[in-house]
Amino acid sequence: MLIKGTTQLLGVIGYPVEHSLSPLMHNAAIDQLGADYVYLPLPVHPERLADAIAGFGAIGLRGFNVTIPHKQAIIPFLDEVSEVAAAIGAVNTVWYEQGQWHGTNTDALGFLAPLKAHAKSWQAVCPVVLGNGGAARAVVAACGQLGCPQIRVVGRSPDKLETFAESWAQTPDIASKLAVLPWEQLPDLLPETDLLVNTTPVGMAPHSGLSPLYPAWFCRMPTGAIAYDLIYTPRPTQFLRAAQAAGLVTLDGLEMLVQQGAAALEIWLKQPAPVAVMRDSLLSYLESSAASSG
Ligand code: NAP
Repeated sequence: MLIKGTTQLLGVIGYPVEHSLSPLMHNAAIDQLGADYVYLPLPVHPERLADAIAGFGAIGLRGFNVTIPHKQAIIPFLDEVSEVAAAIGAVNTVWYEQGQWHGTNTDALGFLAPLKAHAKSWQAVCPVVLGNGGAARAVVAACGQLGCPQIRVVGRSPDKLETFAESWAQTPDIASKLAVLPWEQLPDLLPETDLLVNTTPVGMAPHSGLSPLYPAWFCRMPTGAIAYDLIYTPRPTQFLRAAQAAGLVTLDGLEMLVQQGAAALEIWLKQPAPVAVMRDSLLSYLESSAASSG
């Protein structure tokens, strides 16, 4: 990559941001396209968010991704927020255009991309979503877009489940389909679902020996059902290993990560993203990290 006087800036804000794989994936894409951009990790302390946004305007940053803890906090600083980001209540992609900051959320689109390869009549599928955090919000919005008639979110904290349910009040399309349920009811829900999504971090490295579900529970699910884990390292997780052993279709979080990034890059560069290059850059990094750690 040749950085010149004309090179334009993109990046990712978060705190911490060292763990982010976005610089790797986006710079691989920028290289492939020969675009005059560079994508930087931008650690922004939560108390310095306003200063950072003002500074980004001052230096002409073209756009940035947003990760924890800024996905909600960024919203008041934006001039326009897309409908999907407003429904999810979080922004992961920001761009500067005609003197204004715009924000959207590409996580729902990223989540849907690998699912669309599976021919299901989604109007008959009632997904079960494990966890009620930030990623669960994108998954719920995406399941709404698929046309699923009911979306069941299972969590461990009654208070957080209640808050989660209430937070969709302004999105009647979702609110009318959403049921929040305690973890204890999960065994009874499994025989009725063709899509089980893990949005908890249980099973993520370095706690990769764990699974949010007892392996035997996967056998309760219908033939052809999909088990989808948003975690992308390790590959596969214990959750997906057990689902595979039970004969289910499995998806991990790598493609969601790639596709949400590709959608952001297309907004910034206004041209198709080299999705295969982005995927390969992550795969080779994750494979070499796995080889060196064990
Ligand atoms: P988050 O906002 O912290 O939410 C995590 C959720 O998991 C919370 O509802 C939490 O429950 C629940 N949880 C945590 N530990 C649990 C346990 N031991 N048993 C049951 N529930 C538990 O995190 P997030 O941003 O949603 O991210 C969640 C996962 O998704 C992470 O592994 C992340 O890497 C992955 N992710 C992947 C992508 C992708 O592109 N593939 C994108 C986003 C996120 P409480 O609310 O009760 O604490």
